[in-house]
Amino acid sequence: MDDRHNPSAATEERFGPATRAVRAGLPLAQQGEPLLPGPTFAAPFHLRGPIEDAGHVYGRGTNPTWARYEEALGALEGGEAVCFASGMAAVTAVLLELRPGEVLVVPADGYPGVRELAREHLTPRGVDVRVVPTDEHAVREALAGATLVWVESPSNPRLDLLDLAALADDVHAAGARLAVDNTLATPLLQRPLELGADLSVSSDSKHLSGHSDLVLGHVACTDPGWAAALRTWRTRTGSIPGPFEVWLAHRSLATLGVRLERGSASAGALADLLLERPEVLRVHYPGMGTVLSFELADEPTAEAFLDGCALVAQATSFGGVHSSAERRARWGPADAVGGGFIRFSAGVEDTEDLLADVVGALDALGG
Ligand SMILES: *Cc1c(COP(=O)(O)O)cnc(C)c1O
Repeated sequence: MDDRHNPSAATEERFGPATRAVRAGLPLAQQGEPLLPGPTFAAPFHLRGPIEDAGHVYGRGTNPTWARYEEALGALEGGEAVCFASGMAAVTAVLLELRPGEVLVVPADGYPGVRELAREHLTPRGVDVRVVPTDEHAVREALAGATLVWVESPSNPRLDLLDLAALADDVHAAGARLAVDNTLATPLLQRPLELGADLSVSSDSKHLSGHSDLVLGHVACTDPGWAAALRTWRTRTGSIPGPFEVWLAHRSLATLGVRLERGSASAGALADLLLERPEVLRVHYPGMGTVLSFELADEPTAEAFLDGCALVAQATSFGGVHSSAERRARWGPADAVGGGFIRFSAGVEDTEDLLADVVGALDALGG
């Protein structure tokens, strides 16, 4: 086959990230075959005689649909990827490997599920869990004796940023390893492995699949031994994704670039607009991506704003094609934000329609 028709050749560095996302993980062009083969549904695969070199054996261990999606993610992340049933299954595969006496550093203001898992399952097993704000100085202060440092940048929901390359150097100098939850940025906007992180972890339920219709996750790393250990964990614990979800996510990767482009343009324009509004006390926007957060006076004002938007679904999560928003404090003290704090995820609607919808809801607050 002529190499021009080898889609994985299109994942080379000389192509832009959106081009790579379109082609990543596609099989070689074959006459009469589809561009992206459909999902393979199988528990057992045919297996006659010796099992060595048998290829696929049983659906808890391997599946060709996972393999294509993982090849795609690996090409985007710059490493080897392992997919899981959810973002939290991916988080669990990394964190539950910690042993008694080892030290985990986690963010105080990142995804709450990570802290809950650490509190309920690691602390009782004798892992020393240190909870620190998303702030380079605070993370450095907690490094003595650390085994694994877990960070989220941009953090969720306040969207704070860390200098990951500098942090990776310090974490390694302290003898620890660095895991980055890259869900918010996606590998199209930030590649943690290239910045020196040991692991890049993602909830693919957000931007990567992008349609608010499935739950999925992955871990990427550059150490093949670690990737093999993660696969073994997945087989042992059965934290495997369904082939249909994985296929949908792979299909959706092709539009990740355009989805991010539209959503980021709208989020940036919204951030500019909100900065000018007297009702808005504070705007958090890291200058990239589709998610922004902002603070209104209090809970009733924030609820009235959300009810006043016609184009914005009231839902948790982010990164979908439909714009969505929620008042984060409704989750209780987990995020430690004020009653009027709103996290907003810009979808792929026309930017001017979305801006007009938000302006209308803000104007109605004064009336
Ligand atoms: C959603 C999310 C998770 C958990 O992922 P699930 O797919 O819901 O299990 C982890 N980290 C971040 C930053 C998230 O947004």
